[in-house]
Amino acid sequence: MGDQKTVLIVEDEKNIVDILRFNLQREGYRTCEAYDGEAGLAQAQTERPDLILLDVMLPKCSGFDVCRRLREQGDNVPVIILTAREEEADKVLGLEIGADDYITKPFSMRELIARVGANIRRTAMTPPAASAAAAAAMPVSGELSINTDSHQVFRAGKAIDLTQREYELLTFLASHPNKVYSRVDLMEQVWNYGYVGDDVRTVDVTVRRLREKIEVDPANPVYILTRRGAGYYFAV
Ligand code: CA
Repeated sequence: MGDQKTVLIVEDEKNIVDILRFNLQREGYRTCEAYDGEAGLAQAQTERPDLILLDVMLPKCSGFDVCRRLREQGDNVPVIILTAREEEADKVLGLEIGADDYITKPFSMRELIARVGANIRRTAMTPPAASAAAAAAMPVSGELSINTDSHQVFRAGKAIDLTQREYELLTFLASHPNKVYSRVDLMEQVWNYGYVGDDVRTVDVTVRRLREKIEVDPANPVYILTRRGAGYYFAV
């Protein structure tokens, strides 16, 4: 997986922290831990993690407040919210305040590891490697090009910083140009979620973020378009 990625675990239940740390380290991640919200915020600044696993119910400062404050500070670190299964409203709120994904407790470790991998940000390339990757990228539409070897996306030759999930959503849509996919289709194809239900909100949030990154004017997108009542498609 290249250089070692750091995952910050913000969770007040020590047994959950222990099992997360064990499994993440076994997968090659470095971990750091915080047991309350304020310590989590502090560690996010000092450790500069590649991803944060963030419990909602925390002492001192809730997981939502932690996420909101990170985003207010301009920190775009991928955040996965850990939420109790009953708290459906938590999922929507978490995404609205800028979390990238959520996982419901009790979770399977296999699923959690998959989500961590899917949401972690790609490693920044050195400038010579980046310009070679830009030159080798395939044009997909307009000024947008994708290098599927380096998993990088460029607009007018300039690399765009996407999370793995954003990259997967974009490449999935771009590889089926002009075909409309419903949010449920995308949950199944890109997220590989068995159960969807109201989780389709995740798709909307991810599309919105992707537009903010790839579109010149996110309010008037030209790449990922909405077919009202039907879904999303990549326009060429
Ligand atoms: Ca808790």
